[in-house]
Amino acid sequence: MRRKLIAGNWKMHGSLAANSVLLQEILADLPTQCDLAVCVPAPYLASVGAQLVGTSVALGAQDISAHASGAYTGEVAGSMLREFACHYVIVGHSERRTWHAEKSDVVARKAKAALAVGLTPIICLGETLVQREAGETAQVVGAQVSAVLDTLTDEDLHKIVLAYEPVWAIGTGRNATPEMAQEVHAMVRGQIAKRNADAAQKVQILYGGSMKPENAQALLVMPDIDGGLIGGAALVAAQFLAIARAA
Ligand code: PEP
Repeated sequence: MRRKLIAGNWKMHGSLAANSVLLQEILADLPTQCDLAVCVPAPYLASVGAQLVGTSVALGAQDISAHASGAYTGEVAGSMLREFACHYVIVGHSERRTWHAEKSDVVARKAKAALAVGLTPIICLGETLVQREAGETAQVVGAQVSAVLDTLTDEDLHKIVLAYEPVWAIGTGRNATPEMAQEVHAMVRGQIAKRNADAAQKVQILYGGSMKPENAQALLVMPDIDGGLIGGAALVAAQFLAIARAA
C-alpha cells in the first residue's frame, strides 16, 4: 500500500511574513494520514525550514541545477539544498519546461543530480491542451518517462516521486477528470514496470492541476493516484489541509 503524499508548490508566491502565517495555520491542524511537504521559493528555504523543525511536514525546493557546482550564475546546487534540510525538489515543472526551455533530458539530469545528494526529486510530466486534443497524451508523457528511464538506474527508480500534471489543468481551474488522470497514471506505472516491477509498485505518482478540496477525494481514490502536487490551493491553509484530509 503506497502512502499518499500531498505536496504544496508555492511557486513564486509569499513573503517572510505571509509564509510564517500560512505555516502556523497549517501546523496548527496537521492531519496524520498522509505525508505532507511544502516546496518553497529558494530564498525562503532557511526560514521555512526553521519553522518546520520537529514537525512532520517536509521541506522541498522548486528546482535544482543539473550541475554539482561551478560557474552557473543563478543556479542552486543540490548540496546547497541539502544544507537547508530539503527532502524534496520539484524538477521539470511545466512552467520551467515552458518558460526556461527545459527539455526532458535536462529534467532527467536534474533528477539524477537530486538523487546524487540524497534528495527525492518530484519529476513532473504532462501534455499540453494541443497535444491532448491531437490524441498525443500517451506519446508525449511516454517520451518524458523514457528520458527518466534512460538516465536513472533501477535503484534510483525506487527513490523518486512522479507527478502527472496536464499543462492545461495547471492554474486554470480545469482539472483532469479522475478517469482521465487514472488512465495516464496507470500508463506511467506500466511503463516503469516494464523496466522494474518492484519500483513501479512503490513509486508514488501524484496528480497536479487545479486539485482543490472539492475534487481531491474523487481523484485521490483512484488506484494509481498516490497524492497531489498542489499549486493555488497550497497557499490557503484551510484548502491545503482539506485536500490532505481527503487523502
Ligand atoms: C502546480 O503548479 O504544480 C499546480 C498543480 O498548480 P495548480 O494546483 O494551481 O493548478
